Amino acid sequence: MIRDSYIKTVIEPFKIKTVEPIKFTNAEERKRILHEAGYNTFLIDAENVLIDLLTDSGTSAMSSKQWAGLLDGDESYAGSKSYHRMHDVVSKITGMKHIIPTHQGRAAEKILFSIVGGEGKVVPNNTHFDTTRANVEFSGALAIDCLNEQGKHPEVIADFKGNMDIARLEEVIQQYGTDRIPLVMITVTNNSGGGQPVSMENIRQTRAVCDKYGLPLFMDACRFAENAYFIKTREQGYADKTPLEIAQEMFSYVDGLTMSAKKDALVNIGGFLAMNDDDLALQCRNLLIVTEGFPTYGGLAGRDLEAIAQGLEEILEEDYLQYRIKSTEYLGRKLDELGVPILMPPGGHAIYLDAKRFLPHIPQEQFPAQSITCALYLDGGIRVVEIGSVMFGRTENGKFIAPDLELVRLAIPRRVYTQSHIDYVIEVVKHVHDRREELKGMRLTYEAPMLRHFTARFAYVD
Ligand SMILES: *Cc1c(COP(=O)(O)O)cnc(C)c1O
Repeated sequence: MIRDSYIKTVIEPFKIKTVEPIKFTNAEERKRILHEAGYNTFLIDAENVLIDLLTDSGTSAMSSKQWAGLLDGDESYAGSKSYHRMHDVVSKITGMKHIIPTHQGRAAEKILFSIVGGEGKVVPNNTHFDTTRANVEFSGALAIDCLNEQGKHPEVIADFKGNMDIARLEEVIQQYGTDRIPLVMITVTNNSGGGQPVSMENIRQTRAVCDKYGLPLFMDACRFAENAYFIKTREQGYADKTPLEIAQEMFSYVDGLTMSAKKDALVNIGGFLAMNDDDLALQCRNLLIVTEGFPTYGGLAGRDLEAIAQGLEEILEEDYLQYRIKSTEYLGRKLDELGVPILMPPGGHAIYLDAKRFLPHIPQEQFPAQSITCALYLDGGIRVVEIGSVMFGRTENGKFIAPDLELVRLAIPRRVYTQSHIDYVIEVVKHVHDRREELKGMRLTYEAPMLRHFTARFAYVD
């Protein structure tokens, strides 16, 4: 029991020891700042942001024990004490035989796919995260998403919208043949699919398909603890298990994993790659030495390894996870009650506004989600990110091709903002929604040839 049953309020399960002031700006100043940033929130200086919901990656607040760990970190080049501590914690949670630290998640992906990827290869996943897709494709391989049907519809309410489409996975395996598929991946929670969880049953079914065809299964484990908590609260048979036990079962079905410690390890930098296969681990370590560092630090300082080890212990605490999932849900539920269209149900790490329903008067080629992103900054100094036509739209033969979903993501940094910050966010979103008919479409004035969303510049359409 983590709280008395007669109390309904879920509170932040920590008290604040260090504070960082945030800067208030007025509407006039924000208008100038946004104009100077070319109406792209990536180009606004963090100092000029009041509430920063750009990402939950690397933005967590560390605990006093993590900060203490920084001082305690062992900076020996080889075999440091901090490596052993991190190794032992990761091994306890994942059961993996080989644990290889990397400087962040994409470095783990780069090493893995440099070895197993390549021209002609095919990697299926429930939904590839952008860096995973980029690393698969950079190796010359093809990245294929096999998301279940429910996950493709923002308004559908279901427990596990992040699930792999098992039939589709089998189709892909039969279509390309096992020789071309070095491994299958499953991403928990499904970040690009709205932070939606994957059920234990679905992980088990994915394992069964991999066994049938003799393929290894790897997990993109960035938000494994949030996923474990969703299983605990939504899947039959798990209510009485601890998040650690659930995570251990999740990992028992896979042969390896990639991890960005910037998510569910509560640190500002770090990651790792883990696996059971001795031969693959040897090849990964050899490449790691060339690109990251010696196998016991892999691109990190000893103190970073110490903070990861401590963060991985804290992330599985049940009162933390309850607060985390409930506070994200609080934001989603309040917005839904106010009639603001969001991707339902609320995910683990973020709430997504559905810009197509929010601004039906602006066509996708005029970037409605970008227009909302700008309005949230103008009206309240809140920074969020567009996940729609700017990020995924493209033009072919002069014709604009829109992505299926047009979203604005409000990602919640871990342990950073209190409920009153979130109440402020709700008020600002409502304000923007109330004046939605005044919002204008946008056009690009500059775009880079690749990953244009980071540096694009815009103007309003008259
Ligand atoms: C963040 C993320 C990554 C990449 O990790 P970085 O540490 O940012 O390199 C990979 N997969 C998923 C699902 C992620 O959320």
